[in-house]
Amino acid sequence: MYDVIIIGSGPAGISASIYLKRAQKNICIITDGNSALKKANEIENYYGVETISGEELYDIGIKQAKKLEIPIEKDEVTNISFEENFIVRTVNNEYQAKYVIIATGTNRVAPKVKGLKEFEGKGISYCAICDGFFYKDKDVAVVGSGNYAIHEAETLKPIAKSVTILTNGQKIIENRSTSDFEVDETPIREFRGENVIKEIEFDNNSSKKIEGVFIAVGTASSIDLARKIGAVIKENNIVTNENMQTTVRKLYACGDCTGGLLQVNKAVYEGAIAALDIIKKLNINEN
Ligand SMILES: Cc1cc2nc3c(=O)[nH]c(=O)nc-3n(C[C@H](O)[C@H](O)[C@H](O)COP(=O)(O)OP(=O)(O)OC[C@H]3O[C@@H](n4cnc5c(N)ncnc54)[C@H](O)[C@@H]3O)c2cc1C
Repeated sequence: MYDVIIIGSGPAGISASIYLKRAQKNICIITDGNSALKKANEIENYYGVETISGEELYDIGIKQAKKLEIPIEKDEVTNISFEENFIVRTVNNEYQAKYVIIATGTNRVAPKVKGLKEFEGKGISYCAICDGFFYKDKDVAVVGSGNYAIHEAETLKPIAKSVTILTNGQKIIENRSTSDFEVDETPIREFRGENVIKEIEFDNNSSKKIEGVFIAVGTASSIDLARKIGAVIKENNIVTNENMQTTVRKLYACGDCTGGLLQVNKAVYEGAIAALDIIKKLNINEN
């Protein structure tokens, strides 16, 4: 049995694992190997690193964990339950641990629209706070129909020339007002351009000139894992206390899955906080 199982090998999970391993705890990382970080073309806002691709930063994290001889199981977690200890079920195995850290990020759902993949990183982004700066005084659109889409639109508003919310055939489901934005519910047929995105074509044959598109269709698989074991979820984020403990004892969550700032520095910070709290509890043998 492990002291701690960490689900996820992104910045949050790796950060937690480094602190735990250096404190001599018996740990294991389980990951399906898909981090949001791998989608980031260039990261230029992380302390001490001028420019790096997300993929490269992710690989450095994995290398750092391997250097500390932290076991990394490549598998997909399907369920977490608690009997005397946590039981983490994966597609291929079953593991037991005293503590579990969910560091599974958010599941940034993308709409199935022609041209999406083609223009990812060429005018189509998944993160307003990361990439909004590149769209200063430009006409941009946010694709989504929930609170996350409105949040992204609000982030872009002071930067971009115009921000339109495109719900892609969905009804707006928001708690906040959308009155500051043009909202178009017409289904999207295609993203078009030459090298970079230039135009959106709709199902009703109309089109819109555009210089940037932000995808913000949000649900999260981390939420499913937490919800199944009874942890409280609020607005699609796992609720934690100041030590990153969820409402389920000995179950922690950190990184993008707890909401707020979806950035590497916040994920790294929360991973460290979760690890340090668990180390303290393991050291005093808390039951
Ligand atoms: C396009 C883009 C650009 C970005 N640019 C920047 C930037 O410039 N600066 C910045 O600071 N941040 C940026 N970010 C955000 C940054 O990548 C995230 O905030 C960060 O990766 C969050 O770390 P995390 O560890 O919480 O989650 P993630 O990095 O998403 O890692 C989640 C981990 O959980 C694993 N996982 C998920 N579900 C399961 C499961 N069921 N079973 C097993 N494993 C599972 C995944 O394999 C992965 O290892 C960007 C993100 C995107 C998408």
